[in-house]
Order: sequence, then structure tokens, then C-alpha cells
Amino acid sequence: MDTRIDPWRILNAGVGDIHVIRNAGALVTDDVERSLVLSQRELQTTRVDLIMHTECGVLNLDEAALNARLAEDGADPIRTGTFSDLEAELRRGVALLRANPALKTRSAIRGYLYDLSASNLRLVVDA
Ligand SMILES: [Zn+2]
Repeated sequence: MDTRIDPWRILNAGVGDIHVIRNAGALVTDDVERSLVLSQRELQTTRVDLIMHTECGVLNLDEAALNARLAEDGADPIRTGTFSDLEAELRRGVALLRANPALKTRSAIRGYLYDLSASNLRLVVDA
């Protein structure tokens, strides 16, 4: 979701080359898995690159404080998916995807960390 990241540029891809599924934290949610299943089963994509990044707003997010502010506005609390270890969360996300039998190419799921200050993409979990 981070506005500082252009997935097409960092993956050296053009319009029409890749599906980009984004959310706060790059978390593997039900809807991410739904989209990936459609990407692979209906549109024949053959790999998944899960990319998390440094300086992520979900990293160490204060969920209790956010939910207190939501409560003040009469809104229900949310689960933010906050995490404290970027690489551990990346490995967890890759493992979740690899465990999903609906994904056709589970052997081609990799995890990357994008370093915003260095503008570089580092492979953390190889296929
Ligand atoms: Zn982020």
C-alpha cells in the first residue's frame, strides 16, 4: 500500500506483465489468497513474489491506540495485522501461501524485502 513503492519499477515490469495485489502490511489475507487463486487458475500466472518493505507502517503499529480512537468515534475495533519482526512475518506469509493447495505453483513462491532507503529488493525466502 505504501505510496513510495512502484511495484512495476522495482520488478522491471510493464503494464500488463504482472498482477499486483496490495494491502497494508503486505499481509496474506483471505482476499489476497482469493485473488492469487484467480490469478493462477483463471489467468495462468506461474509465480508469486511476496514483497514486504522497510519502514512499513504496520510494523509495530499500536493497535490498541488505533482501536481506542475508533471506539471514540463509535466504530468497531479492527485487527490491524501488526507485527514486530519484518522477516519473520515475510516467512510466515510465504508459508501460508505454500500451504494453500488452491495455488497451482506453490514451488514458485518467493519472499522479498524491499529496502526503501537503499531502493533495493532482497530475496529472503527462495523457492
Ligand atoms: Zn507497508
